[in-house]
Amino acid sequence: MVKNDLALLTIEDMSDSGEGIGHVDGVTLFVKHTVPGDVVRAKVLKMKKTYGFAKVEELITPGAGRVEPRCPIAAPCGGCQLQFLAYEEQLRLKQKRVQDCLTRIGGFRDITVEPVLGMAEPSGYRNKGQFPVGKGKDGNPVLGFYAGHTHSIVATEHCDVMWSGHETILAAVREYLMESGAAPYDEANHTGLVRHVLMRYGKATGQILVCLVINGTKIPKPELLVEKLRQIPGVTGICLNENRERTNVILGKKVTTLYGTPYITDYIGDVSFRISPLSFYQVNPGQTKVLYDTALAFAGLTGAEVVWDLYCGIGTISLFLAQKAKHVYGVEIVPDAIRDAKENAERNGITNATFYVGAAEEVLPKHPYPADVIVVDPPRKGCDATLLTTMLQMAPERIVYVSCDPATLARDLKVLCGGAECSEASLPGARYYIEKVQPVDMFGGSVHVETVCLLKRRRF
Ligand code: SAH
Repeated sequence: MVKNDLALLTIEDMSDSGEGIGHVDGVTLFVKHTVPGDVVRAKVLKMKKTYGFAKVEELITPGAGRVEPRCPIAAPCGGCQLQFLAYEEQLRLKQKRVQDCLTRIGGFRDITVEPVLGMAEPSGYRNKGQFPVGKGKDGNPVLGFYAGHTHSIVATEHCDVMWSGHETILAAVREYLMESGAAPYDEANHTGLVRHVLMRYGKATGQILVCLVINGTKIPKPELLVEKLRQIPGVTGICLNENRERTNVILGKKVTTLYGTPYITDYIGDVSFRISPLSFYQVNPGQTKVLYDTALAFAGLTGAEVVWDLYCGIGTISLFLAQKAKHVYGVEIVPDAIRDAKENAERNGITNATFYVGAAEEVLPKHPYPADVIVVDPPRKGCDATLLTTMLQMAPERIVYVSCDPATLARDLKVLCGGAECSEASLPGARYYIEKVQPVDMFGGSVHVETVCLLKRRRF
């Protein structure tokens, strides 16, 4: 099979990045925007030795789970990959993905993955948007999302998964750019000024923070931007973030305030949180409560336990747990997030939580307090190998692993459970077994899935 060939195939499965998978003459083809059961005529775009990429030329028979995407730019936009699949099917796919990773990467054979806890309504759920800014063919600014696997920007006025209200902010920033002459950033040449618009919304409070990420120290006519944005109900803060690096990382380290407060406040359950632009905060407030309630239930607290919450962000899980624990220690690498965490403990009158700034793998060995429960919630790359060793040495009764990537979750669980390829010497201390695996859907429409896993210490 070669480029531009036409192939008739049935989609049998979906890849981790949301492409349909089918086979023709022993060759695997990945076809974007297809779902299992689709029969399609597809045109080959690119061939490797044993697999290739193709695009749909004709949808001959739709699969049972195929739906009309709710978003008009679902195909070009790289943000959501599963909008062509019915939500119930998306949840089933995510459950299978977690199961497959545990089997394939973790080597676990007999683990039951619970059905994914999904949303009642998989749209309008996001409380945060990061829109890249660039220059269109006509020279005017374009705000939107990156197209899949590229950095070309698909102009966006409304995003189906964002909270309704973000459109007015996007429109106001676009107007500001047109009127002020502030140059959109040009990634290829590292020139221009405005790189991204970051916006955050506190669902429980209605507060909105808008932050322009700039390749410089100031913007022209800042008062014009403030004037346009402050009229929008809910906007309580307008900031600039300085990022002058040639990098894909969106945010730089320095934040200055143009108007109001440089953070928003929000609630999860009864706990109130202050969230700064540089701090991590879960993007789906409704499902965050479901996720944290699951983590709390898995932690099995009675009030007597010492708990470590590693990768704690602004202390969200820590403060949830502190209400039921003797003491909680939180560790997080971003200094602004720890500043928020300390302030959040204080504002909620929580005195049994202590926070440390630093890498979890470095901080934990320096504080060898006995732990009854350790909670980890790492970024996609998972836990540092030395951290897993330290956790095994500390040998808590329970480990609650909150993961946003089932592949690295499976890899780390294999270590914690004494996987076959780990030598005895590299695994000092305890061994664990998997008690429960509960995925939670925080990202309807996309391939991502969050998983909470309870590990218990094995008794020899
Ligand atoms: N538990 C929090 C945050 C989870 S996101 C919540 O639910 O809101 C993962 C967090 O890990 C981010 O805040 C990130 O800044 C932090 N992080 C990344 N690498 C780290 C490391 N090596 N040590 C500690 N924290 C780290």
